[in-house]
Amino acid sequence: MLLLSDLKEKLAERQRIVITTHFKPDGDAMGSSLGLYHWLKGNGHEVDIIVPSDYPSFLFWMPGQDQVIVYPADKQRADQLIERADIIFCLDFNNLSRIHEMEPAIRNAEAVKVMIDHHLSPEGFDDFRHWDNHAAATAQLVYDFIVNQFDDRAKVTPEIATSLYTGIMTDTGSFRFQSTTAEVHLIVADLISLGAENWKIHEHIFNSSTENRLKFLGFCLLNRLEVIPEYNTALFAVSSEDLKTFNVTTGDTEGLVNYALSVSGIRLAALIIDRTERVKLSLRSIGEIPCNEICATYFGGGGHKNAAGGQSTAPIAEVVDSFKSILPKYKNLLI
Ligand code: 5GP
Ligand code: MN
Repeated sequence: MLLLSDLKEKLAERQRIVITTHFKPDGDAMGSSLGLYHWLKGNGHEVDIIVPSDYPSFLFWMPGQDQVIVYPADKQRADQLIERADIIFCLDFNNLSRIHEMEPAIRNAEAVKVMIDHHLSPEGFDDFRHWDNHAAATAQLVYDFIVNQFDDRAKVTPEIATSLYTGIMTDTGSFRFQSTTAEVHLIVADLISLGAENWKIHEHIFNSSTENRLKFLGFCLLNRLEVIPEYNTALFAVSSEDLKTFNVTTGDTEGLVNYALSVSGIRLAALIIDRTERVKLSLRSIGEIPCNEICATYFGGGGHKNAAGGQSTAPIAEVVDSFKSILPKYKNLLI
């Protein structure tokens, strides 16, 4: 384990740095990575962001995203950068299985590994961690890392502020979730004063749907939503044919599960999607219903109490059935 003072000493000199984040990066994964990227570059380091997969097109406007290396598309170069890195920052995940095919390269790398994350149960691959599972977003922890731990608010540029704002905004569902404390609002206010143009960020993220995406949403609301009133649960089951029909691309299903949760009285919502090679689940809940426990116990996944994900290699109909068969076990929390 490394102390903060050791890390500060290391970062006082120019380092070769790789930043990585989880498979299918979301707004927080990209926002925290890009925020840290611009800060480290501003302090003279050689920095590359390498992500394990593509990410949603509604993030393509983010400052510096065109520099991001997508591992499967540029494996040889990425492997070289990882191998010769002095420091690897792992953002918004704490278990190396979440970076899929990048796992061996990162695990075997000799670099010092710094984890900044807000998910439960860290695996323990890191040499230094800034970890808090009560944080609303990893971008909040990156803000704290730069501004408080490194006392470097003076170096927070509009690019950094924009990236971190995006991470906090997306991971809090636009400042709606229980994780949105007064402290979060104070940080967000500071980011606006540091140059994040909040209204423009909301435009980029929420007013950038394709016609197909909206029609897919309409189709799911009309034909794929199932409400189970006796367990205050609602779910969407989306087939691989549905994805083909509407030409669904990465990010198009983002936020869909929240529509199931928005039905009055619903306390648990699931989005179950047949992604051909595996069935992916996204769970959301209200109150004490532990989505992460359900995902970890039954669907090889994890996450937070009120938002978690998992997967299965069984056919989608079986996954839907097993999800429904779990509900009676949580009866006391659901009704
Ligand atoms: P989403 O449903 O949006 O994919 O993910 C919700 C939350 O659960 C996110 O914080 C995400 O990092 C986490 N999560 C999603 N899928 C998995 C998974 O397969 N394993 C683990 N450990 N966490 C996941
Ligand atoms: Mn996050």
